Amino acid sequence: MEKMKILFLGTGTAIPTKERNHTGILISYRNENILIDCGEGIQRQFRIANVSPTKITKILLTHWHGDHVLGLAGLMQTLLTNSYTKTLEIFGPKATKQNIRDLIKLFNLKLPIKVTEIEDNSIELDGLKIQSMLMSHGIPTLAYSIKIEDVLRLNKTKIKKLNLPNSPLIAKLKKGKDIFIEGKKISFRKLTYIEEGKKICVILDTAKNKNAVILAKNSNLLICESSFISDEKEKADNYSHLTAKDAAEIAKEAKVKKLILTHISQRYDGVQEKILKEARKFFKNTTIAKDFDVIEI
Ligand SMILES: [Zn+2]
Ligand SMILES: [Zn+2]
Repeated sequence: MEKMKILFLGTGTAIPTKERNHTGILISYRNENILIDCGEGIQRQFRIANVSPTKITKILLTHWHGDHVLGLAGLMQTLLTNSYTKTLEIFGPKATKQNIRDLIKLFNLKLPIKVTEIEDNSIELDGLKIQSMLMSHGIPTLAYSIKIEDVLRLNKTKIKKLNLPNSPLIAKLKKGKDIFIEGKKISFRKLTYIEEGKKICVILDTAKNKNAVILAKNSNLLICESSFISDEKEKADNYSHLTAKDAAEIAKEAKVKKLILTHISQRYDGVQEKILKEARKFFKNTTIAKDFDVIEI
């Protein structure tokens, strides 16, 4: 099965550091290059990663706090000067339409753009399914999961045993249709199996909430914000953010396979081990993202 490629373009919070830019995650699969959030400085991050921003097909916005969207106008300007030929599709929470309209007006960004405001929605793409759910962060905020479609595979051993000629019957099975051999019906289920598509879930700014676990359920990879550690639980609650423990608990409850923490504050420069240590107490298979990390899943 083809893999999704994840490129971390920014893993910091409100104030960038030498190592961490504002948020941006690029997820690529087949012809889709989906950018989740677009923090300030994203263009230079694309440059350093040696990826052309004109490849972007969709932008998914989590919310309208500056550290997640301040790169939009600049990025759109560059797409415009590079004669971007696609229609840029932007999905985001309530207010996204008006805010994009304002940016277009302010900077005269006459780019083919289609904006869709979503809440708990699912978006079907070629071989991919995107699911969005509302989080809890003071303003309308979304998290996203992206899943590769399940594929029906032939059980070659069983088919060999039946001595099926490479015939239209095989094509039928591949489509999930029952077949008849010498008048006898054979269910396609007996000769096929489902290869489950991989699932990634991206939860950025939010306080802990039920939807986070629902959305992340059984993901192969959960990318989750971890702005604080439990020492600063009160602050995390005040600003509606997650601690490393919260993120790890979501990973555990949702039974995900791997957790990558992002949205790492400058306050933990040099002491990021603290974040990792706390998360690993509750969910072992945890790492912290760095800018320009690439992961395939
Ligand atoms: Zn943020
Ligand atoms: Zn925020």
